[in-house]
Amino acid sequence: MNRRPLIAGNWKMHLTIAEAEALARAIVSGGIPADRDVMLAPPYTAMAAVNKVLQDSPVFLASQHSGWEDKGAFTGEISPVMLKDAGCSMAIIGHSERRHIFGESDQHVNQRLTGALRHGLVPILCIGETLEEREANQTFNVLETQLRGGLIGVASSEADKLVIAYEPVWAIGTGKTASEDQVQEVHAFLRTLLEKMYEKDIASQIRILYGGSVKPDNVDALMSREDVDGALVGGAALQAESFIRIIHFNQ
Ligand code: PEP
Repeated sequence: MNRRPLIAGNWKMHLTIAEAEALARAIVSGGIPADRDVMLAPPYTAMAAVNKVLQDSPVFLASQHSGWEDKGAFTGEISPVMLKDAGCSMAIIGHSERRHIFGESDQHVNQRLTGALRHGLVPILCIGETLEEREANQTFNVLETQLRGGLIGVASSEADKLVIAYEPVWAIGTGKTASEDQVQEVHAFLRTLLEKMYEKDIASQIRILYGGSVKPDNVDALMSREDVDGALVGGAALQAESFIRIIHFNQ
């Protein structure tokens, strides 16, 4: 199965409107190869400006988060209806910073994910183990719990739209990348799990991204592994030069 690669940039809580607009413009000017997808998740304040820049490009606009209710008394939250209205087609769900800094549970993640799907946003479900969990040989258990917990109620008919991002917590923003073998081992495990949860041909369509200190100098090797279908990039997505190089992996 040939899965279309996805390179996703997560700008987190960085950049003013003017900075975000300039960075989006520079990334688009770098050219987007026709055989892959690219996505940018700016901060909410810059979404309208970035959306304008992306309008005539193939780059998808995404949110870094999504609420589950359409509207209501949820101070500080953002609704999937609002995100669609703002031009988003994808949403990062359950990022480790949401889980570990803001205490989001698998149940929250599941509500956010099903809310996103209900409104036609492609959810990028982030899962990953901490260093302590890896050292205690709990990696596969933790990932299985997060994957199954995040996908409760997601039917086979919707599962092919999903994107999963494996992001070991110990590799995010630390400069430590999981080795290509570690990444491939986990992605193959996740694919097998998805085959058990959904039909085999659906599991084979679901893109599994790797995230955790992806840089211009490691992207080619990571992207040449069989079950690595893209990258979720934080730090290196904040500079045009490095993100453009990552977009052009293996070229
Ligand atoms: C992330 O934010 O999802 C991420 C992987 O960050 P970084 O690339 O900086 O490790």
